[in-house]
Amino acid sequence: MEKKEFKAESKRMLEMMINSIYTHKEIFLRELISNASDAIDKIYYKALSDEQLVFNKEDYYIKVSVDKANRTLTISDTGIGMTKEDLDNNLGIIAKSGSLAFKKENEAKDGHNIIGQFGVGFYAAFMVADTVTVTSKALGSDEAFKWESQGADGYTIEPTEKASIGTEIVLTIKENTEDDQYDEYLEEYRLKSIIKKYSDFIRFPIKMDVKSQQPKEGSEDEFVEVTEEQTVNSMVPIWRKNKSELTPEDYNNFYMEKRYGFDKPLKHIHISADGAVVYNAILFIPENTPYDYYTKEYEKGLELYSNGVLIMDKCSDLLPDYFSFVKGMVDSEDLSLNISREMLQHDRQLTLIAKNIKNKVKGQLQSLLKDEREKYEQFYKSFGRQLKFGVYSDYGVNKETLQDLLMFYSSKEKKLVTLDEYVSRMPEDQKYIYYASGESIERIEKLPQTEMVLDKGFEILYFTDDIDEFAINIIMNYKEKEFKSVSSGDLGIEADEKDKPTEAEENENKDLFESMKSILSGKVTNVKASKRLKTHPVCLSTEGELSIEMEKILKAMPN
Ligand code: ADP
Ligand code: MG
Repeated sequence: MEKKEFKAESKRMLEMMINSIYTHKEIFLRELISNASDAIDKIYYKALSDEQLVFNKEDYYIKVSVDKANRTLTISDTGIGMTKEDLDNNLGIIAKSGSLAFKKENEAKDGHNIIGQFGVGFYAAFMVADTVTVTSKALGSDEAFKWESQGADGYTIEPTEKASIGTEIVLTIKENTEDDQYDEYLEEYRLKSIIKKYSDFIRFPIKMDVKSQQPKEGSEDEFVEVTEEQTVNSMVPIWRKNKSELTPEDYNNFYMEKRYGFDKPLKHIHISADGAVVYNAILFIPENTPYDYYTKEYEKGLELYSNGVLIMDKCSDLLPDYFSFVKGMVDSEDLSLNISREMLQHDRQLTLIAKNIKNKVKGQLQSLLKDEREKYEQFYKSFGRQLKFGVYSDYGVNKETLQDLLMFYSSKEKKLVTLDEYVSRMPEDQKYIYYASGESIERIEKLPQTEMVLDKGFEILYFTDDIDEFAINIIMNYKEKEFKSVSSGDLGIEADEKDKPTEAEENENKDLFESMKSILSGKVTNVKASKRLKTHPVCLSTEGELSIEMEKILKAMPN
C-alpha cells in the first residue's frame, strides 16, 4: 500500500473548497449522485457504439444506504467504474474531470446527459465526512481498487475485492459540533428529501431501503419493522414529456408537488425550445395573489435545472419584475455554470432564455385576454397592479410590452375594459381618453366632474388604484389618443363657444368669486364660472398636469 501526497496547490484548493465554495452542505449528495449518474451514462454511451455491450436499463441504478451505528452513508452505482489510474487521476487531482474528457472524446454522439465538467464536485463529500472510501471496479477489468482519504492530507490506493462493475463510496459522517450538525445526513427522511430536491430527475433509479411499521401477521395491534427498497426519484421529468401525453391534471399535480402555490394554477405554459438555445420550461400563472406578493419578502424567480439537476431554487434573472408572479422551472443543457454549480455566469444563454420566457408569458396573457376573458379578469384581479407598476417603473421602458394587457373599469360597460376596446369605440368628435380617479367606483360615479363628459356620451375609465394615474402618465397616449383627467381645467369638450361661460356670466359674479378666492386662499388658485356642471353647484378642477388624486398620493409619500 503506497501513500501519496496531494500536490501543494491541490492541498490548498481542497481546503478552500471544503470551506468556501458551497453555501449548502447538503449538496454533497447532489454531487455524488450526479457522478454516479454520469458513470452509468458512460456505459450507456459505450453501448451505443459497442455491439458486445448490451445496456439493460434494469441493471443500472444508484443506491443510497445508511448505517447509523457506524455513522456511514454509502452511495453506490453500477456505472462504468474506475481503474487504478482513474482513481489516481480523477480523484487525486483536483479540478480534473474525467467526465469532461469523456464528453470531449465522444463529442460526435448526440444526446449528452453527462453532468460533470469541473472536477471538484466529488470533494464536496469532505464537507460532511471525515473519511471517504471509494471502492471501484472498472468496466472490462477484473481488479478492484480502494481509494481512501481523510481530506487535505492525501489519499491511499490499494487493491481490494469487489464483485461487480461499478463504484461504492462510503462516507464516514462527521460528529456534530456546537456549530454544525451532521447527524441529519444519517437520517433516512432527510436524505430522501435532499434527493427529491436536487436529484429527482436523474435518469436512473436512486434506490433506498426505507423502513416502515407494518401490522404483524395474525395480530391487530402489534407492528413489525419492515425494510423495503424504494426508488426515491421520479426519473422522467414532466417537462421532457410530450405535451400531447400530458393532461391538465398532470400540470396541476406538478404545481402542487412543487409547492409553487397553494392555489390551482390559472394557466400553464409548457415550452420546448430548440432554437438558438435549447431548453425546456414549465411555467405557471397562479390564480391568486400569494399572501406576501406585494411585500418586500416576496422573492421572484424560477427553478433552474442543468440537465435535470437542480442548480438554483429561485433564479431571478429569468423573470422581469412585472412578471414576478410567474412560477415554474427551466431546464437547459446549455448553461455556463460556475464551479460550485450554484450560480450561473451571466451569459448570453440565460439572457436569451429570459427574453424568450418574457415573450411567451406575454403571448399567453394576450391569448387569455382574447379567448378566456373570465380567466384573464381573475388574473388581472390578482396581478394587474404589478403590470401597472411595470409600466411605471424603469422610466417606462416596458410600456409597449404591457399597455395592451392593462384594464380599467369603464363607465359605459360597467366592467373592466382594455385601452384598445376603449379607443375602438370612441366617437369621432372625442379627442381624449377620459379618466376619473377616486377611492372606489361608487365615489367616482358621484364626482361632479364626470357629468359633462358622460353627458357628451363619452366613456370614462375609473382609476381606483393608486398606481393607475402614474402608469397612464407614463403611457401618455394610446393609439395617438392622449389621456385626460375629467378634473382637468380644459376637457377639450368646451370648444363650442356656446358651452363656455360668456363674459357677462363671468363678470356677473366677479365679486363673489373674488371673495371666495380670498376665503379659500392657499387652498385654491382660482374660482371661476363653469358650464361643466349639471346637477352639482360646484366642483374642483386642476390646471396643471397632476390630478387632485395624484397630488394627494404624492403628498402622502415619504420624501
Ligand atoms: P466532475 O463530475 O465535474 O467531473 P468530480 O469531482 O465530481 O468532477 O469527479 C471527478 C471525476 O471522477 C469525474 O469526472 C469522473 O471521471 C470520476 N468519478 C467520480 N465519481 C465517479 C463514479 N461514481 N464512477 C466513476 N467515475 C467517477
Ligand atoms: Mg461531479
